[in-house]
Amino acid sequence: MTDSHLGPVSPTTEALGALRPLSLDAVRLDADGLLGAWQRRNAEATIPHCVDELSATGTLENLRRVTGQSDREFAGMWFRDSDIYKTLEAAAWQLVHGDDPGLRDLLDSTASLLAKAQQDDGYLNSYFTTVHPEKRWQELDWSHELYCAGHLIQAAVAAARADASAELMTVARRFADLIVERFGPGGTDGVDGHPEIETALVELYRATGHRPYLDTARRFLDLRGQGLLGEGRFGAAYFQDHVPVREAEEVAGHAVRQLYLLAGMVDVAVETHDTELLDAAKRMWDSALHTKTYLTGAHGSRHRDEAYGDPYELPPDRAYAETCASIASFHWAWRMLLATGEHRYADEMERVLHNAIGAAIAADGRSFFYSNPLHLRTGHDGSDEDAPSERLSWYTCPCCPPNLARLMASLHGYLATADDDGLRVHLYGEGILRSPVPGGEAEVTTRTAYPWDGRIELTVTATTDRPWTLALRIPRWCGRFTVEVDGTTVAGDAEDGYLRLTRSWNTPTVIVLDLHMPARLVSAHPRVDAVRGCVALTRGPLVYCLEQADLPDGTVLEDVRLDASAPVRPVERADLPEVPVALAADGTVDRSPSPEPYRDHAAADDAAERLSLTAVPYFLWANRTPGSMRVWIPLG
Ligand SMILES: [Zn+2]
Repeated sequence: MTDSHLGPVSPTTEALGALRPLSLDAVRLDADGLLGAWQRRNAEATIPHCVDELSATGTLENLRRVTGQSDREFAGMWFRDSDIYKTLEAAAWQLVHGDDPGLRDLLDSTASLLAKAQQDDGYLNSYFTTVHPEKRWQELDWSHELYCAGHLIQAAVAAARADASAELMTVARRFADLIVERFGPGGTDGVDGHPEIETALVELYRATGHRPYLDTARRFLDLRGQGLLGEGRFGAAYFQDHVPVREAEEVAGHAVRQLYLLAGMVDVAVETHDTELLDAAKRMWDSALHTKTYLTGAHGSRHRDEAYGDPYELPPDRAYAETCASIASFHWAWRMLLATGEHRYADEMERVLHNAIGAAIAADGRSFFYSNPLHLRTGHDGSDEDAPSERLSWYTCPCCPPNLARLMASLHGYLATADDDGLRVHLYGEGILRSPVPGGEAEVTTRTAYPWDGRIELTVTATTDRPWTLALRIPRWCGRFTVEVDGTTVAGDAEDGYLRLTRSWNTPTVIVLDLHMPARLVSAHPRVDAVRGCVALTRGPLVYCLEQADLPDGTVLEDVRLDASAPVRPVERADLPEVPVALAADGTVDRSPSPEPYRDHAAADDAAERLSLTAVPYFLWANRTPGSMRVWIPLG
């Protein structure tokens, strides 16, 4: 087995951490399974789509303005370079799946263009070089210069780990060296209004061993919360600059900024053995996950500043829930999982991946949601890009699509980890993985229809007869499970969220883990008053929703109620793309509601008519006819 192709987030051997990632070459998802199908769709549709859009929208042309090859107007928002970098990162991770001359050429030719556009001192930014050279480093609150640099660095690290474009790493290091010189220890005090550089510099340190990158990342964290960014349009909390990161008690401000910052905090904490910083991240996890996260795993309710609201301010229809925040949550959770080994972080990765992230991409992989509400009202005006009724092929601010592409291309790197005891499987998908284990190497082949079925068959072999532990995550939604080893039921508990099987695996052994997966009705904490009197339907890791497409003609979704006393049943649905299982439920619909918006509380309900309901996975919504949708359904 080669371990030359490390994936995103590869802590050094000196880092704090309970778990170690597997190399990208060691894991393969089969396209028969849902996660593998998503990964194949990403390769076949989403990455080529992003590459096309870079040209079609003039984003690459912006760089040619720097090199004198174009005199067109600067196109798009001032941080457009980051879309190029995220697409290059996706291309690099994709190359680990198998060589692709087109993607390799994209990386090489773009790296060459970037090298030409780079200034003599290493600075690289198409907007500030050609449009406002006098503002270079002068407006860090909004300039996104270090944010763009961070994405360049992450693309270069991915390329290096994929044995692709060496020139990209040369470009990134020249820029990173300039950043260290200017903002590193002993340099100017400054932080970027949009975190990203922190985690990128730690990854660059991991890829190069050059300590000043890590020290500069730590310095950016320690300088935050000192008011360097000012109040801006939305106040210092918008930038997470209102309180030092070690003292923060509550997630606040722009959700993507907050979550990228938290990912950087964990990266710095584990590489510098800074348990105080890690403890601060754990506190923030409790704040975010207990009071400010949607049922789908999405973050951030406020549209005005793309921000977290107050605790329990989680309106389903006005959820902002930006796709990038969902991706950032997944990235943060992975870092917390590696650092602590605690199952709750893997549980959250599963939830946000299968729901909020899954919903952001159309079934054809070529259109995307930016915001991800849990309720789209009948009659919604979808003309606003912030809250469209349908996925759009691109956006004025197209941060989300290439972010999805880079996550999906590297998705197989997040399934399992190695540790001193053996191997842990966190996410279940059909495929094969190999892992170092004490005394040798293990191979695990997984056959499953998860998440449609809870039966997971794992065939395990190892090159050593030395005993080691296979740990399988028992998801928090799972109330009951059984496990067989070579056909014999064995006792097992999962007190800390993992079922552990310790033995010698030197002959092929078949494990059948059966996670009981009934449909569940979920209610919200009473303080989430926006959904009081409602329940959501879930099954396994999936949140389901009602869609207009499944209602009789003339039925208004908001007039529908669920009868919670009737059973909710899984039903096969061969007609839905990628979705063999929907849920059938019973409910009522008010056929003649009064047009008056308010009425006497003591007045009897209008006559309600019985109605059979079909709920489909939330990630599928808006793939058929456009129309209303809701996750939280009123009881009645
Ligand atoms: Zn975004």
